[in-house]
Amino acid sequence: MFPVDKIRADFPILKREVNGKPLVYFDNAATSQTPQVVIDAIVDYYSNSNANIHRGVHTLSQEATDLYEQARLKIQKHFNAKESYEIILTSGTTDGINMIASGFSDLLNTGDEIIVSALEHHSNIVPWQMLCEKTGAVLKVIPMLQNGTLNIEVYDALLSAKTKLVFCNHVSNALGTINPIKEIIKKAHKVGAAVLIDGAQATPHIKPDVQALDVDFYVASAHKICGPTGVGVLYGKSAWLEKLPPYQGGGEMIETVTFEKTTYAGLPHKFEAGTPNICGGIAFGVALDYMNAIGFEAIAAYEDELLQYGTKKLQEIEGLTIYGTSSKTAVISFNIEGIHPYDIGAILDKLGVAVRTGHHCAQPIMNFYNIPGTVRASFAFYNTKNEIDILIASVKRAAMMLR
Ligand SMILES: *Cc1c(COP(=O)(O)O)cnc(C)c1O
Repeated sequence: MFPVDKIRADFPILKREVNGKPLVYFDNAATSQTPQVVIDAIVDYYSNSNANIHRGVHTLSQEATDLYEQARLKIQKHFNAKESYEIILTSGTTDGINMIASGFSDLLNTGDEIIVSALEHHSNIVPWQMLCEKTGAVLKVIPMLQNGTLNIEVYDALLSAKTKLVFCNHVSNALGTINPIKEIIKKAHKVGAAVLIDGAQATPHIKPDVQALDVDFYVASAHKICGPTGVGVLYGKSAWLEKLPPYQGGGEMIETVTFEKTTYAGLPHKFEAGTPNICGGIAFGVALDYMNAIGFEAIAAYEDELLQYGTKKLQEIEGLTIYGTSSKTAVISFNIEGIHPYDIGAILDKLGVAVRTGHHCAQPIMNFYNIPGTVRASFAFYNTKNEIDILIASVKRAAMMLR
């Protein structure tokens, strides 16, 4: 049995009330909640070890540096990167994607092609549009199918010697679809293209092995994996990271500076200009420890139980449609006929249930289904079937009031 009661006790926020009702938090795909060990690590850092890193000879600076570099090793181990310097600490997924987009602006020429999937988050569409405008490269899109998966036949046809980059999320944040990234990566490599995978939505549920995937770049955010906001990871194969120019100039990323010429520091510092989110990086490492102690297989199995249970119960509600029905993580995106998703979300909030409504930063998906948005309930390993029962009862109540 999954020890969900014990786990819930680790999250102080789960004890609070919203609008006089116990909080039911089903907006985990937007951000996850924070366990006490991670909160403690943040308090402990500022109470005992706060100093700037990599520069000082004094004890505090060395302690902070050790903690920060230990966190990098934890992240390396978690993602199974070959080298610790292939782990770049970023401010989050968006930051990591922009770093690569900016780097490739030096490597692309007019007529080169970039392929993105139709299931992308805006943060994975806009930087490529900007890159295409700058370089004259052309953006191609892998279309989606009715069940929320990608049309791989069209992907096959889009790939050619012109393809330089392929960008795809591991899991769609709007629908929860798990994309066949291993196949996508293998096919891209056959034509010599590099692949960046957006793992923001996959990492709370799946432990990715970047070497087994043979992926060139993989990005994620700590705040979706029980860590703090404002920190994330960019994994890059060392050969690629050596080849790409630095993203920002500043302290930390240089080896020598004169007004005539600056030489850049080696990896990972070349991509980590300025004082980083030291505390956030350390807390990220603690969050990964916490989740690994529970185990990602156990987490995925329990969340799937919640998904199956919630799906079955929701489908019993008249006029309710669920979008994305393929193999997926614990996300249910739905609408009720004749009712705007926002109205359902507002009533659910009154009843203490936090869901997301709207386009989920993925307007192209909403356009595909010809809907303004959805209600999205996304589950985490600290949610319960009892909470799903509350969601169902609340959705029924909302539907009754709004019809
Ligand atoms: C949340 C999310 C992002 C953006 O993450 P930030 O932490 O806001 O940078 C990108 N892609 C997907 C799939 C997401 O779920």
